[in-house]
Amino acid sequence: MPSIFSSPNPILFGIGTAKETGARLKELGCSKVLVVFDQGVKNAGIADKVLESIHAAGIKTVCYDNVLPDPPDWSVDEAGALGVKENVDGVVGIGGGSSMDTAKAAKILLTNPPPINQYFGRQGVVKTAGKPLIVIPTTAGTGSESTPGGVITDTKRNVKDVVAGIGCAVTLGIVDPELTISLPPAITASTGMDVLCHAVESFTSKRSNSFCDVLAREAITLVGKHLAIVCQDGSNVEARAGMLFAGSLGGMALSGPLCHLGHDIGKPLGANFHIPHGTACATCLPQAVEYIAPAVPEKVKFIAEALGSNVPGNATAEETGLIACEAIKGLMREINLPNLKSYGLTKEQVLAVAPEVMKLGLELAPMPTTEAVVRNLLDRAYDEN
Ligand code: NAD
Repeated sequence: MPSIFSSPNPILFGIGTAKETGARLKELGCSKVLVVFDQGVKNAGIADKVLESIHAAGIKTVCYDNVLPDPPDWSVDEAGALGVKENVDGVVGIGGGSSMDTAKAAKILLTNPPPINQYFGRQGVVKTAGKPLIVIPTTAGTGSESTPGGVITDTKRNVKDVVAGIGCAVTLGIVDPELTISLPPAITASTGMDVLCHAVESFTSKRSNSFCDVLAREAITLVGKHLAIVCQDGSNVEARAGMLFAGSLGGMALSGPLCHLGHDIGKPLGANFHIPHGTACATCLPQAVEYIAPAVPEKVKFIAEALGSNVPGNATAEETGLIACEAIKGLMREINLPNLKSYGLTKEQVLAVAPEVMKLGLELAPMPTTEAVVRNLLDRAYDEN
């Protein structure tokens, strides 16, 4: 099968690189930039650090610090309007996926009329390049710094939609492991599982290809090596760097193959029950990997082994799937990832999500996905995880 890979944007990776933000903006010709972040990033002292670097380069700033989780469309409209009013010539997004995606979408509104909703989906793609955009991840999770789009909540339809293409393209991602040191264990665990979901789902997607497989394999290996460590000792910079690198690789790996069962089930779970994105997507990952093992046994064997399990040479696909399922469940327990019961949900509430999952038009899992399959995965995840 032919393979295609396009790496959407350059990434500057390394400890201390956030200090270069100002100099990089100067190289891009910026004189006044819109800086986008949320209160958690502000309280962790990260925004001030980056602002210091920008001001030291003689660049003015205007801050939009009202980013919300699963960013709603109206907040993007607010951020864009602020940028237009202040006549900025660039954007900087600092934070997790919510802040980076708000910045990506706000960039569109600097050179195109609001509201942001008109730019959702394939039909809404803006085909002209906008102003420079630097994004700086502070979670090792979404990999938004290396993906071509941003995820925004359409509040009228109550669904998450996507802006993508050159109009919201990242000019430079600055990926500095030091910025993730302040992440509390619970967010470290949830966002870390998002990395694993991106890598595992893109690796086993029907649209997986040789380029993305290389990136996904490395990301899975890095998660196996570092995720439990960063959840136990958040100050371990080497392990933080490993996870952040895995996050960027995961973002690259999914740009093409995309994700399947974990994310498809996670999206309505997150939207209905306010479960953080990474935790929601990981909810059915162990059982989903077991389910797809007969279609992609070698890949599932790789996943199990990368997470520290031993798969005997004569294991059947079903046995391999079970070992991989246990390996992922073990990791989830080790990092104290909350399960469905811990959100106070009943099984009935959880199973009621299945029809919503089907509305997403699933097509990328390597095994057939029916409503009965989704119900079974949710049922098992509720009892087993
Ligand atoms: P997030 O951006 O909502 O951040 C979660 C929390 O962590 C926030 O409260 C934030 O303040 C806090 N935080 C972030 N960095 C911190 C730090 N270093 N120290 C202390 N606190 C910190 O969560 P997320 O999981 O990174 O992003 C989720 C969003 O990204 C969702 O909307 C999801 O749909 C989207 N997403 C986008 C892509 C993409 O390619 N664009 C891919 C996957 C997910």
